[in-house]
Amino acid sequence: MSNLQQNLVCFNTFGEEESWTLATYEKLDGYKVWRKILAGKLTPDEVIDEVKASGLRGRGGAGFPTGLKWSFMPRNAPVQRYLVCNSDESEPGTCHDREVLRNNPHCLIEGMAIAAYAMGATVAYNYIRGEFIDEPVPRFEAALKEAYDAGLLGKKIQGSDIDLNIYAFVGAGAYICGEETALLESLEGKQGKPRFKPPFPANFGLYGKPTTINNTQSLASVPAIMRNGATWFAGLGPEGSGGTAQFSVSGHIEKPGNYELPMGVPFKDLLELCGGVLGGRKLKAVIPGGSSVPVMPAEAIMDCTMDYNALQAAGSSFGTGAVMVMDETTCMVSVLRRISRFYMAESCGQCTPCREGTGWLYRMLTRIVEGHGEMDDLDKLVDVANKIEGHTICALGDAAAWPVQSFLKHFRHEFEYMITHHGRSIVDDVSEAAA
Ligand code: SF4
Repeated sequence: MSNLQQNLVCFNTFGEEESWTLATYEKLDGYKVWRKILAGKLTPDEVIDEVKASGLRGRGGAGFPTGLKWSFMPRNAPVQRYLVCNSDESEPGTCHDREVLRNNPHCLIEGMAIAAYAMGATVAYNYIRGEFIDEPVPRFEAALKEAYDAGLLGKKIQGSDIDLNIYAFVGAGAYICGEETALLESLEGKQGKPRFKPPFPANFGLYGKPTTINNTQSLASVPAIMRNGATWFAGLGPEGSGGTAQFSVSGHIEKPGNYELPMGVPFKDLLELCGGVLGGRKLKAVIPGGSSVPVMPAEAIMDCTMDYNALQAAGSSFGTGAVMVMDETTCMVSVLRRISRFYMAESCGQCTPCREGTGWLYRMLTRIVEGHGEMDDLDKLVDVANKIEGHTICALGDAAAWPVQSFLKHFRHEFEYMITHHGRSIVDDVSEAAA
């Protein structure tokens, strides 16, 4: 048996009664760091240096070092600066940010406050996915009110020179608004379409002013880093992947859910903690970081650890930490078709390779599933994916291309079988033969 324990950084109030309240959060040393800042005992440089040393990397998918990102902000420029939290969690398979909003919103608010202070931002927005309107949004808004009522936000907070207003902004439910510049457009009241970069948001962000956008989990990790120290956080994970990560485990798994664990946890241990593959069946494949990252066959992931470097070396990516488990009964052609439909529907249409290419991918896969595929469709699929990858304004194009390339690399025989058997899936035929 694995002796793996959940290690709660962003989920530190979980299990407590009324985990989302100020009283609960403060009982667990919540706002201790923010109060220290308000008392003038921490400089912005000290905060940035600590976050840099912690090895925290953006948990939204890109994995960019958070402290380094903060250091890009022109902190002393005589202009308004903004912090934006990205709670537009939409990557298929990912469902942990909403748990922070729902169950530990004060941790996020304190993280936003510390980050805003470090970068000289006096206004911060939390851009929250529209579909979270039922519970995560009201919980976050109620927590904001509690923080204001307790004198932890506002103007000249607790007699200091620090001003900070935090606002919740509810999006309209577009996947592309999780892309940071599309998010800014949406926040400005425009259609959520990614901007060309450069200029980067640190120089030209919200309303053309210096802006940093951080993911929910990244910001919610900051209070614990500042309380316990960078060395503690970095030491939780392997070199290059400090701290913990929230793994959203879904698919063919006995105990799906969110697990906060040290970075670098062996996949085998994670699988065991989650009760193993559903019904004790054989593992076929795993998408380790949300639907945008390359799929891994079982034999490739079983000996892998769950961190940035190891997953990249194994040909995939850590992504958002959304682990999608597929057992031996999964038809990989159907899965890829479903994923391709998603990217086709979510493309904003600005660039031709993405707008046209995602439609081509979906239509070719549909033709195969409906029994009209031809063998040269497989090369065409890879060709279209290659022509999308790296040729678009934002990463949605790559996200549409990578699954196609990786599914065909590892499971081409399933596609060939379906073509030669006019739409029959190899998994259906194998299970019928075994029955
Ligand atoms: Fe829009 Fe796709 Fe281009 Fe991104 S890659 S800007 S989603 S068309």
